[in-house]
Amino acid sequence: MGAVRSSATAEDGAGAKFAGIHTSFLNVRGLEGVLRSILGCYCSLWTPQALAYRRKMNFADDEVLCAVVICQMVQAEGAREPLCAGVAINVGWLIFAALLPDFLLGWFTLAGWESYTIPSDYHSVHYLLFTFPWSHGLLADVAWAAIAGVVAWTVARRKTAAAAVAVAVLSHFLLDGIVHVKGLPLAGNDGPVFGLGLWRHLPLELSIEAAMAAAALWIYRSAAKTGGSKRWMGMAVYIAALTPFLIVGQAGATEVPARGELIVSWLAVLPAMSAIAFWLDRRRPSGQSAG
Ligand SMILES: [Zn+2]
Repeated sequence: MGAVRSSATAEDGAGAKFAGIHTSFLNVRGLEGVLRSILGCYCSLWTPQALAYRRKMNFADDEVLCAVVICQMVQAEGAREPLCAGVAINVGWLIFAALLPDFLLGWFTLAGWESYTIPSDYHSVHYLLFTFPWSHGLLADVAWAAIAGVVAWTVARRKTAAAAVAVAVLSHFLLDGIVHVKGLPLAGNDGPVFGLGLWRHLPLELSIEAAMAAAALWIYRSAAKTGGSKRWMGMAVYIAALTPFLIVGQAGATEVPARGELIVSWLAVLPAMSAIAFWLDRRRPSGQSAG
């Protein structure tokens, strides 16, 4: 694995830095990758930004010559690795993966394949009872996790990213199983279920969820702050802003939610929440850097 770096004659001068103008490539693999990256380095002399910068700094085009340096990349020993360094995937995808069974529940409820019932004492218990073997059953979730992992692998070509997505999908079974009262089926509708029913003890349940959100944020912070990134602060504000909605939405719910409201929350709100996290975690592509 190597780095193909551009190095132009006018860079880092007293008057003109050219910072971020010319392109370098990291994590380059194979001869074809090296050749493409070399071409990319030379081409970056002729981007609109490079042309505009030369005009602005009064450089003639033929005054800026470019060398290409090919380096071998080595693992920095002793460097403090962030917890999720190897995952290299936007956290928005991980959040959506963890919410995937609820997103599927929206579609399957719409299609009439899955359903829910409302307990007569809903105004005091605040929970629904679900029949959802296709979106929330253990066997089904293993299949969804495998599919999501394969999709992640196809897109990202990273084993760690694919594994993280699959684990995120599967985590839904465990976390929902802790709170759901009727339980989550292991396989079909009539088989054994897993459900600890923590929704019956809402103050305890919400405290555990708040503690888990704080722990997740701490893990995210240790992964994102390397390199001086302040991204985790935006995420902290986002989670802090969401928490009251989630608590009021659960503990304060006395009116039975309409079917349409539930379906919209599964099909639209969950992707929107993931998209906001995606936006907060956005960064430059890891394989390409300017310099
Ligand atoms: Zn769920």
